[in-house]
Amino acid sequence: VSARILEGRPIAEALRTRLKRQAIDFQRRAGRPATIAVLHVGTDDASLVYARAIERTALQLGLESRAVALPAQAQESDLVRALVRLSDDRGVDGILVQLPLPRHLSQRTIAEMMDPRKDVDGISVTNVGNLFLRQQSLVPSTPAAVVSLLDHYRVPLSGKRVVIVGASNVVGKPLAFLLLQRDATVTVCHIATRDLAKWTQQAEVLVVAVGKPHLIHADMVRPGATVIDVGINTLPDHSIVGDVDFETVREVAGAITPVPGGIGQLTNIMVLRQTLLAALLQLRELV
Ligand code: NAP
Repeated sequence: VSARILEGRPIAEALRTRLKRQAIDFQRRAGRPATIAVLHVGTDDASLVYARAIERTALQLGLESRAVALPAQAQESDLVRALVRLSDDRGVDGILVQLPLPRHLSQRTIAEMMDPRKDVDGISVTNVGNLFLRQQSLVPSTPAAVVSLLDHYRVPLSGKRVVIVGASNVVGKPLAFLLLQRDATVTVCHIATRDLAKWTQQAEVLVVAVGKPHLIHADMVRPGATVIDVGINTLPDHSIVGDVDFETVREVAGAITPVPGGIGQLTNIMVLRQTLLAALLQLRELV
């Protein structure tokens, strides 16, 4: 029996409807639209495409998106100045810094300088700490998308054995803490993990976020498992695939996300959901 396909689209549509309502509600109360600033350094094509996609989705939902571009040769002091200016700007509710930064700039500086109230991708040291401490916080968008998808399709997590492949600061690690909050038993695998298949075969829920096409094939997957493929890879023929060998794994898994059409459908919307959350929380502080 072929696996159930866990599409992102129905979740995206439900979220859009809810967020449009919240955006109208915010605008009525604040007298202006909720606003995200997307800070971009340099001319990397992929992140420009991403910035434009956020802008498009923001407009569709009734939020405002402001692009802040710094030149590739910008220094750390320029970046800090831009962040402070956006923190102080009462017309900005959320700040998203496009990663990766050019190599001469430190991500650590952003994590320290980012205003945690406006940190809509959950990268500031305060929000990372809150996630660790199981306090309410703004969290990174991709792990938030994974949890939303699992919730939507009612995949049980409490007590379940979850294996995450990939331990990055933006996906694997924060996802591990979000799933711990749901009482899952979480294992995180990474580049130094020996015998990856031994771990993945145990997973009742397997999440893969590495960036290597066909890393996970059918014999690495426990029959009936739920498989979430976060990877996005462009092949030489320009087709887009995940990290999971979809065609063979779907014959073994109980449920699987497609790429494209799965998690990728949700990430932008999550950033805007957090922008509205940040906007509403800051509005509450003012009254
Ligand atoms: P990343 O920063 O490159 O992290 C990749 C992680 O995978 C690292 O922890 C790395 O370990 C680990 N890894 C590398 N090779 C491995 C292997 N052979 N076996 C096990 N672990 C291995 O990437 P990322 O930003 O987390 O993104 C991961 C993938 O998700 C990419 O394809 C990216 O495009 C995609 N992505 C998708 C969305 C979406 O909306 N769907 C959003 C964000 C990212 P080390 O750290 O030890 O090297």
